[in-house]
Amino acid sequence: MSSDLPSPCPVVVAQNLVKSYAPARRGGTETVVLSGIDMTVGPGEFVAIVGPSGSGKSTLLSCLAGLEPPTGGHVLLLGEDPAKLSRGRLARLRRSGVGFVFQSFNLIPSLSARENVALPARLSGRRVRLADVTAALAAVGLENRGSHRPGELSGGQQQRVAIARVLAARPRVVFADEPTGALDGAAGTAVLGLLTEAARTGSAVVLVTHDLDAAARADRVIVLRDGAVHGELRAPVAADIFAAVHGDPAGALR
Ligand code: ADP
Repeated sequence: MSSDLPSPCPVVVAQNLVKSYAPARRGGTETVVLSGIDMTVGPGEFVAIVGPSGSGKSTLLSCLAGLEPPTGGHVLLLGEDPAKLSRGRLARLRRSGVGFVFQSFNLIPSLSARENVALPARLSGRRVRLADVTAALAAVGLENRGSHRPGELSGGQQQRVAIARVLAARPRVVFADEPTGALDGAAGTAVLGLLTEAARTGSAVVLVTHDLDAAARADRVIVLRDGAVHGELRAPVAADIFAAVHGDPAGALR
């Protein structure tokens, strides 16, 4: 990692991050989705990214997580530039230090909750202890559902299994893209509580959400508009975030 970064070293850095897509057909126009984003996320920090639909939130998350290559600028993920890593090294970096939580849960339907939680460790060739898997499921309140397949669980329970799978790997950073988007209020609140707890116990959390109450749980909220950082709020309440996303009439942005 470069020596001019502040200490402690951020877990995620974007420097002048640009993402654009070539025209779909000849003579069309290029789509610029991210137009020069600068941001950092520190260890154990909980950062929410909000903004109107189409402002580039999911694209930013994908670039930060090394799932999409930027068109310009740089990303540092756990001190490494994903664009400079081989596919194998990038996969190892993700497996060893990065967790993902998606709106669609991304569980394997044919595997039990227990097997889903154990899967990342199995894939990276690590020994999986049943006690660790059971503890991860207990941490999300699903100790009695280990043998159930995803189809036998509610949406909220499936998302909790997905979070148990992430937390069992003790990642240094968790990327979550609308993790409560498919859940009702109580299930969503439970999932947000788990992400907050993950940040409290040392994992950085980067959350993309359109749910302002969810964003209000973050230490810091980054507001995107038209692919650029429009402002940043520290420990805001939902009303401040609403003002920042929808025109900042209350002067909430700093
Ligand atoms: P948000 O998550 O804020 O709703 P997205 O990051 O999903 O926004 O998308 C931002 C913009 O990027 C949208 O206008 C979308 O149409 C555009 N976009 C996303 N992926 C592609 C792609 N593969 N090709 C062209 N445009 C894209």
